[in-house]
Amino acid sequence: REIDGIRLEQVREYVWEIPQEGEMRVPARVLASEALLDEIGDDKTLQQLKNATHLPGMTDHAICMPDGHQGYGFPVGGVGATDAENGCISPGAVGYDINCGVRMMRTNLTYDDVQGREEELVEALFANVPSGLGGGGVVDGDKETIEGVLERGVDWALEAGWAVPADLEHCEDEGRRPDADPSAVSQKAKDRGKNQLGSLGSGNHFLEIQRVTDTYRDDVADAYGLEPDQIVVLIHCGSRGLGHQTCTDYLRKIEKEHGDLLDSLPDKELAAAPAGSELAEAYYGAMCACINFAWVNRQLIMHRVRQVFARVFDRSWESMDMHLLYDVAHNIAKKEVHEVGVDPEGRPIGGGDAADREERELYVHRKGATRAFPAGHPEVPAAYRDVGQPIIIPGSMGAGSYVLRGGESSLDLTFGSTAHGAGRLMSRTQAKQEFWGETVQDELREQNQVYVKAQSGATVAEEAPGVYKDVDEVVRVSDALDIGDKVARTYPVCNIKG
Ligand code: 5GP
Ligand code: MN
Ligand code: MN
Repeated sequence: REIDGIRLEQVREYVWEIPQEGEMRVPARVLASEALLDEIGDDKTLQQLKNATHLPGMTDHAICMPDGHQGYGFPVGGVGATDAENGCISPGAVGYDINCGVRMMRTNLTYDDVQGREEELVEALFANVPSGLGGGGVVDGDKETIEGVLERGVDWALEAGWAVPADLEHCEDEGRRPDADPSAVSQKAKDRGKNQLGSLGSGNHFLEIQRVTDTYRDDVADAYGLEPDQIVVLIHCGSRGLGHQTCTDYLRKIEKEHGDLLDSLPDKELAAAPAGSELAEAYYGAMCACINFAWVNRQLIMHRVRQVFARVFDRSWESMDMHLLYDVAHNIAKKEVHEVGVDPEGRPIGGGDAADREERELYVHRKGATRAFPAGHPEVPAAYRDVGQPIIIPGSMGAGSYVLRGGESSLDLTFGSTAHGAGRLMSRTQAKQEFWGETVQDELREQNQVYVKAQSGATVAEEAPGVYKDVDEVVRVSDALDIGDKVARTYPVCNIKG
């Protein structure tokens, strides 16, 4: 197929390859059905994916997930793994909202327990979980607090009484990136973060009460503690102004310091620091600190939700079994060791040409992509190691969301990754032309029985169900490729939008 002058060869079902040509260092791959590929081809995603293959040290393929759409320089739904010794790290391939991610909390409540109490719950949550642009946070971020959060992540929350040990066990990296370097985060970024610790933020971020509608792999659903009709809570947010500022800070520094590399790239937005350079190390340390901040942010919100439920239902949160199922990042770059194709000198090369494969340390950039480690992987929490890592894929406030588990093929195909959502079909500007917030809200209440409350009507329009792709189709492709397998589907009961 050819889309806007970009040639794609079908490798097998759901796998499309943009062959290596010109300055591309590796081929690119799109994982999609025909229908999703049509949508992915509608904006600049394919060109951005092709551009990403120019990054130094890119290994095997730059990959676009089935939910892919265009982003800043690098597609949202993009995975790119660069050699950590000879390659580079690119802030645009992580995204502005460092460690934007999702966590799901279980309960032992059923849909019956909450039906008819949606308004009461939403009002109580709205009053107690800060959201929107201003609004402050759950805790006051004085200097010591911010430093502690950046350095120690959810360990800080545990010490401060905002977490229980089981929360840490059920979070990617146990809620703490050891490589965090708070001194690499600017004062300006810390200042932006200090009043936002424990806050949803605005726009695409949300807090949603959902009910489980279906389970698919009962042994895995059992291990995750999920069954039909059960109430769960989904929290989606990131590192707020702190992460955004950190991304901006390092983009500007890298553009200035590494102009030669920048000139060799087809898009300035891909600005990257060469592996081993001072800025690569500083950005990595700062990014890891922002990752910790985002984990604490989601932890504080979740703990607040426990307190709100305890008040509304007049029971302890423990008695409602409100335990963290899992927390996973979807905007992140991490040093990980993977097997990649190498040339006879042991240098990573792309595509299927490599006769040899070798284990290399890589910067795995997952932007709008979720880690999806399979059963048996040592980084999967002990409780889930036999079945695989939980993956959480939100759909929209008018569609299902999914819990998947890391699939057997993820390490071979996608550096252990899969999609992160349904993925946008249209820009926010276009969404506001197509939808009107209040109408969307009314329709959701009447037709979908979903109770939505938002800080602004514009947000509801920008996030209307119709702006997103078909999440069922995204998940179907992930499951068919064995990178992330369906475990459960949920549906919103009520939703708070930032
Ligand atoms: P992103 O991190 O790219 O902003 O969003 C991740 C995904 O969340 C989107 O691709 C979309 O599928 C999903 N999403 C956006 N808004 C909502 C919502 O209100 N509820 C649910 N369940 N999912 C949403
Ligand atoms: Mn975000
Ligand atoms: Mn996100």
